[in-house]
Amino acid sequence: MAAPYFTAAELRSASEFLQDLIRIDTTNPPGNEVEAISFLADYCREIGLEPVIAGAQEERPNLVAKFAASSENRTGRPLILSCHVDTVPADPERWTHSPWSGHDDGSCLWGRGAVDMKGFATMALFAMGKLISSEVPMNRDVIFVAVSDEEAGTRLGSKWLVEERPDLLGGNPEYVINEVGGFSVHQKGRRFYPVQVAEKGVAWLRLTIKGEPGHSSLPSRDNAVRRLGRAIDAIAKARLPWHPGEDARRFISGFAAPQGRLALEVSRLLFHPFLGPKLLPLLIADPSRRTSIEAILRNTANPTCLHGSSSINMIPGTVSVDIDGRLAPGQTAADLMRELHAVIYPVLGNRYELSVLQSSEAVSFSTDTPLYREMERTLHEVDPGCHVVPSIIPGFTDSRNYARLGAQCYGFYPLQLPPDLDFASLFHGDNERIPIAGFHWGIETLTAMLIRFLGKS
Ligand SMILES: [Zn+2]
Repeated sequence: MAAPYFTAAELRSASEFLQDLIRIDTTNPPGNEVEAISFLADYCREIGLEPVIAGAQEERPNLVAKFAASSENRTGRPLILSCHVDTVPADPERWTHSPWSGHDDGSCLWGRGAVDMKGFATMALFAMGKLISSEVPMNRDVIFVAVSDEEAGTRLGSKWLVEERPDLLGGNPEYVINEVGGFSVHQKGRRFYPVQVAEKGVAWLRLTIKGEPGHSSLPSRDNAVRRLGRAIDAIAKARLPWHPGEDARRFISGFAAPQGRLALEVSRLLFHPFLGPKLLPLLIADPSRRTSIEAILRNTANPTCLHGSSSINMIPGTVSVDIDGRLAPGQTAADLMRELHAVIYPVLGNRYELSVLQSSEAVSFSTDTPLYREMERTLHEVDPGCHVVPSIIPGFTDSRNYARLGAQCYGFYPLQLPPDLDFASLFHGDNERIPIAGFHWGIETLTAMLIRFLGKS
């Protein structure tokens, strides 16, 4: 690996940039990303880019800034560095330092978005700056994209860009580098770097139940609320069937293989449709790890929003609950509905309706690409002896939309984390903070990877 690309002063200014970005409150809802977008636009102009700001709503725009390769060097389709600037809400009462303070405690920068994902916005922009100043003859255009509205479903952000302005994304980008991957995970003395190559699908459903409406001062014969309660209980308790797809198998085996042949063989038992669910609690003691492994091995369905009567003295005639369903790769909304019918029917008979509000299937990307190999090679170089594992996440990111343009999308947000940090809990959690040393390491790592990948003819 080349010598460090950044001076200590430059890395310090990246930290300050991130602190300033955290101080701009972009809680979604409502979002109000415009100030953060214009803050990023100013920096783009400083490093010589001409940012374009576009969106469906003035207060909630997106930013796109292209660094074009010269036509004689350009041999590949564009590479996008994508981030979202909105964040989930934070309750200051529960935090040690204000979620919008950008507080520096000497080892971490604190604030909502420090990890998810203003840290990567900073990392990507500083890498862009270095690409420009290093004058590498680039084999393709690089496009920095900062979107709004990821946390509430991507409608005004990447979905809007993909549907309304694909031209700004280079039309048919070849690659997207995005969040949820590239950070270190410590396990039994080994270091792993999951690089995200797949995301589960989404099936948002609604279960509706009709009963006999009436005045609630009278005993009720057929209260829909009661039946809804029974159905919710059944759905929440249900353990839906196992669907261990290729992405999940590769991910689980990738963690098991370095621990030896026996560990690998035992981990494979998890893929068995009947043994897997029984063995999981025996093989994985840590509850949060167990939950994340289980999530990638089957469809899930969680009842969330309730709809019904708004009046305490009225038995509603119709009540419903929305169900956040997530699909294992290869599964469809219809498959999940079939599984849920098997759970609900024994409780309610046929007196209910299950409908789809929105759905999209899982996305999965190739590990057999020059970019994936370059990410892998770079990680092995900057952290010799580490293990790079292609991963699947139960949630979704903007990559789901970029995939529609034919892009190979990867979660590669390099961060070197202390072994005792519960990193997963920081995503959307209280006291979100990013370790400064690991963040600086990430800026160097991303930049080194990009310079090498883009400099190849
Ligand atoms: Zn995010």
